[in-house]
Amino acid sequence: MNIILLHRDLRIHDNPALFHGTNAEEALVVYVYDKKYWQGNGKSTFQLKFGMDCLKEVSNNLKNRNIPLHIFEGNYEELKNWIEVNFPKSVIYMNHFTDIGYYRNDTNVFKRFYADQKRIKIFENFGIQTKNFNRDAWSFDWQKIMTKPILSEIKTSTPWSTKNIKLNSFEEFSSKLNLNDQMTECQIGGETKAFELMHSFLEERGSGYALKMSSPVEAEFACSRLSAHIAFGSISLKTVYQSLLETIPNSSFKKDLYSFKKRLHWHCHFIQKLETEPELEFSSMHPMCDKLRGDGDNEIIEKWIKGETGFPFLDACMQFLKKKGWINFRMRAMIMSFASYNLWQPWQKTSPLLAQLFVDYEPGIHICQVQMQSGVTGINLPRIYSVIKQSKDQDPDASWIKSQLPQLREFSADSIHNAELAETYKEIICDPKASAKKARETIWSMRANKDFKKLAKDVYLKHGSRMKRRA
Ligand SMILES: Cc1cc2nc3c(=O)[nH]c(=O)nc-3n(C[C@H](O)[C@H](O)[C@H](O)COP(=O)(O)OP(=O)(O)OC[C@H]3O[C@@H](n4cnc5c(N)ncnc54)[C@H](O)[C@@H]3O)c2cc1C
Repeated sequence: MNIILLHRDLRIHDNPALFHGTNAEEALVVYVYDKKYWQGNGKSTFQLKFGMDCLKEVSNNLKNRNIPLHIFEGNYEELKNWIEVNFPKSVIYMNHFTDIGYYRNDTNVFKRFYADQKRIKIFENFGIQTKNFNRDAWSFDWQKIMTKPILSEIKTSTPWSTKNIKLNSFEEFSSKLNLNDQMTECQIGGETKAFELMHSFLEERGSGYALKMSSPVEAEFACSRLSAHIAFGSISLKTVYQSLLETIPNSSFKKDLYSFKKRLHWHCHFIQKLETEPELEFSSMHPMCDKLRGDGDNEIIEKWIKGETGFPFLDACMQFLKKKGWINFRMRAMIMSFASYNLWQPWQKTSPLLAQLFVDYEPGIHICQVQMQSGVTGINLPRIYSVIKQSKDQDPDASWIKSQLPQLREFSADSIHNAELAETYKEIICDPKASAKKARETIWSMRANKDFKKLAKDVYLKHGSRMKRRA
């Protein structure tokens, strides 16, 4: 018997573990729900809710193929014990994930146990390279992975085992989960939604993407909005990439689609860093940068994450993010830059709080982006976003800000952008110019240090993109 384990690969199509695992006389499909994982670094019910939408569709699709989905509640050690009691000769099929440390530690012991007995098959995921990884050939190898054939329909070989399996079905399990009803404005998960989004983006919505992606007003509709689907695997990255390559030649907005193509590449480029160096979850890429900021100030961090900084544009972004579970790249970068430069708070404390608000939380991307926007990688030029400039550039008449913060309805655009709202609004949390100047000076004086440069070179060799260099 094959046991197929699902985690963040919640789809029927192009799912290697499911495809190969079901190619047997008997197979069992199991989703592993570990409560502690969902309390881990950056995880939240926002994300769980999206995952459960995806799992519901997986369950229905499997049912249509006469395959029951079972939910195992517990960690991988408990799962191993359960398997060994019930199916001691089974073979495990699972896809690889680059995830938070809790998951990695839990699954590593599990994988080792089955690898020693030659009873496990692990399939690579996305374009992440886990074996014989060569940084210099990474892009070339990524391209090869992404253009491999899409796996066809899963097999529905019978008979499926019904042997006394005392695990809950999806329906029994989900009725116990009490997920927050207030998340109604968040995206809905599932393969159907993922394919709809992909087609509408490639065929229509993507027109103007390259320009519109910077504005929180336009990005909501002009970006693909596939991130949560890619993170929860309700669509495979290979499917998105190959559909894109098919669409480009006849598209009337090729430039926008090339811009999108670059980002699919970045997706794996960032996750690869965490895969290569899992310590990045807690330590800065450049080792000297961990000494920069102290322990942090919880009161300041709380004001920032609640959107109570006194800067209307930043606070509006937070309100939007809390409702939708998503915001565009530029605003994520600005929010993070504000916490790390203007408020000078350690990224290790702010990163999980921000991640919890993203439905599309992908630890590899999030943690590396957080580090980039905090100036601690040593290989990227620090960029300090001005909240006042972004406010004027992205929402000139302040109408979007007013839609998020209706209490500012009566104020002029100028006073909103400059956060000059007398006593009517929250007091500003810092002096934006003085704090940015101080941060810039501190970061650049450290970068000028000889030892810093030496270590930065090592970081580049381990993680740096070779694209620009080759060009
Ligand atoms: C501080 C910070 C944290 C972030 N955290 C996450 C995260 O947890 N999960 C996540 O998917 N993205 C993250 N991003 C990257 C980016 O903001 C989102 O991928 C994007 O906004 C998602 O919307 P979309 O799917 O419409 O993107 P599109 O613009 O349509 O891009 C298509 C896909 O490309 C990938 N992508 C896009 N931009 C980037 C990027 N800069 N780096 C890596 N991959 C990218 C994503 O998979 C995305 O779905 C973060 C960025 C910052 C600055």
